[in-house]
Amino acid sequence: MNPTNLPPLLEVRGLHKSFGGVQAVIDVSFSLQPGQMLALIGPNGAGKSTCFNMINGQLKPDRGEVRIKGQTLAGLAPRQIWMRGVGRTFQVAATFSSMTVAQNVQTVLWSHHRELGRWWRPAADLRRDEALELLDAVGLKQQADVAASILAYGDVKRLELAMALGNQPGLLLMDEPTAGMAPGERHALMELTRRLARERKLGVLFTEHSMDVVFAHADHIMVLARGALIARGSAQEVQDDPKVREVYFGSGKLAR
Ligand code: ADP
Ligand code: MG
Repeated sequence: MNPTNLPPLLEVRGLHKSFGGVQAVIDVSFSLQPGQMLALIGPNGAGKSTCFNMINGQLKPDRGEVRIKGQTLAGLAPRQIWMRGVGRTFQVAATFSSMTVAQNVQTVLWSHHRELGRWWRPAADLRRDEALELLDAVGLKQQADVAASILAYGDVKRLELAMALGNQPGLLLMDEPTAGMAPGERHALMELTRRLARERKLGVLFTEHSMDVVFAHADHIMVLARGALIARGSAQEVQDDPKVREVYFGSGKLAR
């Protein structure tokens, strides 16, 4: 599994989180290697976002631990976790609509390189070439100088991916990255993510409602139900699992 004996890129051990009387996440453990596309699926309210938010530092686990390359993230703020190479995209795209596409990426690059001083403004072309390379990687180079506000929704999500890559993450967390996208666009975005993950040895943890997309693009799938992992394996293994079928019972196939 891990021939070099290096610690995994991401290691999650025994995570628990309750909100009042609701046990949102119960004893979740898994690991993720560089280049791997790992999907976390489960019905609405299963605890997927709570897991993500404990990894990115938005939420503190009640119990359990998250390690990146062997180093614990306990006690670190989201910004410090981001600085350790944990990138994320958002369910609702988070771009600056008043800036151009390239400027959005440059802003992330300045932040990554700690060039966003309080008392000076970086020159407009600082790291523009790097931004254009990232935009090229996601297929947006032609739109570098248009306002982000006029991009089509699918392109906004690709811009967001370029922005996440600007931090040179080792791990990318994508909580429903394709929400609101048409089926064809969903596949295109996840195919692009998969190619980038392979090329850049990036580990990707993602959630996604469309089972077609999950089965087509995940290397490994984990199924969460009422806070607990009930199955994990390949697309085929997960589809054949009786516990998973029970959770998704109703439509006759794994629709959500
Ligand atoms: P998913 O992302 O799989 O849809 P969530 O992680 O958002 O699920 O939610 C898991 C459970 O925890 C749900 O029962 C939800 O209502 C509850 N929950 C999530 N966040 C909070 C919160 N901030 N306060 C109270 N309950 C929450
Ligand atoms: Mg969620």
